[in-house]
Amino acid sequence: KILNPASRSQVTQDLSENVILTTVDDLYNWAKLSSLWPLLYGTACCFIEFAALIGSRFDFDRFGLVPRSSPRQADLIITAGTITMKMAPALVRLYEEMPEPKYVIAMGACTITGGMFSSDSTTAVRGVDKLIPVDVYIPGCPPRPEAIFDAIIKLRKKLANESIQERAITQQTHRYYSTSHQ
Ligand code: SF4
Repeated sequence: KILNPASRSQVTQDLSENVILTTVDDLYNWAKLSSLWPLLYGTACCFIEFAALIGSRFDFDRFGLVPRSSPRQADLIITAGTITMKMAPALVRLYEEMPEPKYVIAMGACTITGGMFSSDSTTAVRGVDKLIPVDVYIPGCPPRPEAIFDAIIKLRKKLANESIQERAITQQTHRYYSTSHQ
């Protein structure tokens, strides 16, 4: 049956009001970006700023962020503080124990480059991205809680446009890289 223009426009309006068209990626990303659960991980002074973020003043939970103490319940790790060589295997193990898809925010100069330990220290890791893949970097010494929020907003934007398939390939590549260089 051929609809007249008035009926056709009514059908179009009914469809737009009652049918949601989306992709699996969009639906998955929408759910994911509103429920990131960060692992409580701090190794030095940067963690003081991260701890401030969890308090009532900054209302961290409004983004769906619920800090977890177990890597098995977390899908985000914010590396807050200096990473020492001694701590490196523990950090990699924590990361490996997190379920996929998982994300990393590197917080502060020490974790990004080794910071003040970068030139002559033999005990500090000069860049956490040598151990685990980093999604967002927060420069500063220490970065303020607002800068952490900015990084989380950037991560959410990245998540909103992510393809599940591409993420799986990236993480497989990292797994291959990390196991073949141990
Ligand atoms: Fe401490 Fe600054 Fe290093 Fe953060 S970047 S761990 S505040 S020295």
